[in-house]
Amino acid sequence: MQKPNERLKGQTAIVTGGSSGIGAAVSLALGKDGANVIINYNSHKEEAEQISEEINKDSICGKAIAVKADVSVEKDVIAMFKTGIEEFGTIDICIANAGLQQDAALHEMTLKQWQTVIDVNLTGQFLAVREAIKEFMKRGMRPEVSKSLGKIIHMSSVHQIIPWAGHANYAASKGGIVMLMESICQEYAPFKIRCNSIAPGAIRTPINREAWETEMALEKLNKLIPYKRIGIPEDIGSVAAWLSSDESEYINGTTIFVDGGMTCYPGFTTNG
Ligand code: NAD
Repeated sequence: MQKPNERLKGQTAIVTGGSSGIGAAVSLALGKDGANVIINYNSHKEEAEQISEEINKDSICGKAIAVKADVSVEKDVIAMFKTGIEEFGTIDICIANAGLQQDAALHEMTLKQWQTVIDVNLTGQFLAVREAIKEFMKRGMRPEVSKSLGKIIHMSSVHQIIPWAGHANYAASKGGIVMLMESICQEYAPFKIRCNSIAPGAIRTPINREAWETEMALEKLNKLIPYKRIGIPEDIGSVAAWLSSDESEYINGTTIFVDGGMTCYPGFTTNG
């Protein structure tokens, strides 16, 4: 039998958009490594409660609660952190994961489509990580659980470097995350806060259903993936758990691409 990994025992993580896809897998992975998990949802209460239950029923896991908040609304995010801190005492790990797409050709993109994506994908990450940093600084070091004051992981995308026609709002939001994450690292590394991003490639979740739900779509998608399979949410969960732990202590200000090689220009495999 595999021994449980307790590398996050005694720590508390908040995962935004934790009710589905990548956020759900990250919540489970952190919970299995012993962390308490605050599973944020905005619109899928039952799913969030189901993930929470799955963590709570397993004795090797930490404890979990589901908390509603729209990550783009400042007062919601502040209230969510307050609830989490009241429940578990503090926050040690913040996974800023919630995100969405509203696709349109740029000349047809409405201001609302632009703003909604920036508000959730970029401002939403700012609001969550700001509250996390406030809590880390107020609380101080906890050497009994981690060598770092706190850990932040932004869920970015390969589209922080790959331009994406028809999705300029999404690509711009992910491009913004690079400078947000690296600036936070520069500003707060001296306080022993670690801030990194994970940039997933194509992962099978509701956000990109049309890219994998038919054989034909999947075949087309695989042309973009040197490793020749679509990613699964657990591919991201395992990296997030490791990146949250002291096993990766010296990694700071970095983006880890988890993409089966998608960022290695597969179009040039046969000489371009
Ligand atoms: P998903 O649609 O399953 O998950 C997104 C989550 O964000 C959902 O739970 C949704 O309810 C939540 N959310 C949306 N708006 C919110 C708001 N205002 N407040 C709180 N929560 C909100 O898709 P996913 O693929 O799991 O996406 C998770 C993250 O991963 C996103 O940031 C996405 O950009 C990123 N990502 C996904 C892929 C992929 O291929 N699936 C690739 C690269 C990056």
